Amino acid sequence: MPIHTANTIPALDLRAQYASIREEIQAAINAVLDSQIFILGSQVQALEQELSTFCGTRFAIGVASGTDALLLALYACGVRRGDEVIVPAFTYIATADVVSLLGATPVFADIDPATFTLDPAKLKPLVTKRTRAIIPVHLYGQTADMEPILEFARAHDLHVIEDAAQAIGATYHGKRVGALGEVGCLSFYPTKNLGGYGDGGMILTNSPELHEKVRSLRMHGECRKYVTAEQGWNSRLDEIQAAILRVKLRHLEDWNKTRRTHAGNYTRLLQAVTGVTPPKVAGWGEHVFHQYTVRVPHRDRVQKELAGQGIASTVYYPVPLHLQPIYRSLGHRPGSLREAERASSECLSLPLYPEMTSEQIEHVAQALSTAVSEA
Ligand SMILES: *Cc1c(COP(=O)(O)O)cnc(C)c1O
Repeated sequence: MPIHTANTIPALDLRAQYASIREEIQAAINAVLDSQIFILGSQVQALEQELSTFCGTRFAIGVASGTDALLLALYACGVRRGDEVIVPAFTYIATADVVSLLGATPVFADIDPATFTLDPAKLKPLVTKRTRAIIPVHLYGQTADMEPILEFARAHDLHVIEDAAQAIGATYHGKRVGALGEVGCLSFYPTKNLGGYGDGGMILTNSPELHEKVRSLRMHGECRKYVTAEQGWNSRLDEIQAAILRVKLRHLEDWNKTRRTHAGNYTRLLQAVTGVTPPKVAGWGEHVFHQYTVRVPHRDRVQKELAGQGIASTVYYPVPLHLQPIYRSLGHRPGSLREAERASSECLSLPLYPEMTSEQIEHVAQALSTAVSEA
């Protein structure tokens, strides 16, 4: 592991967070070890309860990862071989590869350049007789513009599955992510705003039917113990992860608030810097800044300059999904989804985590202005 001196700043420092909650975490893990109950016990049940309350849904179902949450949600909504599912072209691959895994086809929509999220105005030409669902992604911690997406989905009889992996706690007109569509999917990958110490995910819904289906799907499709009526998976959240996540959930709102403060400071320091476009906070709700992502020209050179000054930065994501090798057969060419492509070439995420200091934020902002002027 690199040593972080005062002037080197990592993209994320999970050790700083662990140091602040170490005793609570160790007590929670020890309680699970003492119980010797590791799968679907009281910790998972309690976390499901707490997260459904936090997000504002009737039900929550713990699964093995955010990817599995999307997979089981799609399957529970009836997506099968030959169907089509609309996803934004600018997101993590998991949003689309779950669609392919079910034998369905992802249909890529371009994004709104201001928010990096699915542009509702681009949906219409993408719908066919085979379209079954839309997966809006709340990228970097800000929700997609859900109202027009939901309205479009109603008009075309499509399911809406939120990919809320990066946005736990974010709001849209006062409602939290996970409760905005028909089904919401969370990820507890360690680097997410609510990260476990391994893989984990959660499905949120208000629908009793979907709730029952997903609960059965994560357990081999069992309708009662050792009786299976349909195809399912083994996709469960561990007790140890749930116990860790319950501790961290108690801190989440503070952490998200601090992320917003840091992001506000970055924007204040960067908005007058020529060549840097800070992220826009849309008027419809609260951003939880999973990432603080700017646009810069000559992005790769800027990133190298920053690295030279000891500052880590990350490109989420360098290749839009429609141009990924796995989707070559869909026949997209560069130029077909311009905003997704432009975002892929311009985006740069700066270090942002709750344990950073204001001095570090200032140091990064200063280094970025230098890097942009020299790149
Ligand atoms: C992290 C992430 C996922 C997948 O979650 P895992 O828990 O890693 O499987 C899906 N979509 C987006 C947008 C993500 O950021």
